[in-house]
Amino acid sequence: MGSNGQSAIKERRPSREATAGSAARSPDIPCAPHPRVLLLNAGYEALTALTARRAVVMLLCGKADVVHDNPELHVMRSETREVRVPSVIRLREYVHIPHRAKVPMTRAALMHRDGNRCGYCGVRATTIDHVVPRSRGGEHSWENCVACCERCNRKKADKMLAELGWSLRHKLVAPQGRNWRLVSSLREFGPHWEDYLVA
Ligand SMILES: [Zn+2]
Repeated sequence: MGSNGQSAIKERRPSREATAGSAARSPDIPCAPHPRVLLLNAGYEALTALTARRAVVMLLCGKADVVHDNPELHVMRSETREVRVPSVIRLREYVHIPHRAKVPMTRAALMHRDGNRCGYCGVRATTIDHVVPRSRGGEHSWENCVACCERCNRKKADKMLAELGWSLRHKLVAPQGRNWRLVSSLREFGPHWEDYLVA
């Protein structure tokens, strides 16, 4: 993917900030970044969320087309033209994404699966516990790991649940769904994204 033309595109600041001068850098004035843009494969599968700048570059290079505009008007400007920042764009050519049967387990992904709650007591989780302790052959897997609070983690140490009389608040399963990883990494959805992300 070439980076040609990137430097020629300038973000136009909202007029509210343009008049603020040096005060625009003050931390109490919120900056209004352009919204992210959902990139779809040529077959309409969601791929990733791009920065507005990257999305506009892809449009200008002819690599992608607009699928949905953003109802809020965000404009980026090059020397010669203005481009509206869309909400959803689609690649002109299909890119092959290797299929991964399982979502890789990371700390952040596990916390997301468990809603940041301790799997034993339900308070805010700060660590990860191996249900069957590693010292007893427990695996580092979706099915054997659970979000956990400090207190439960300390109490449990290398014991089995049966030894403590504890039980899990929910069943431990690997997350399913094509878009799980992308959805879990997004803070919010843009306009029309739901049509492509909720599988
Ligand atoms: Zn706990």
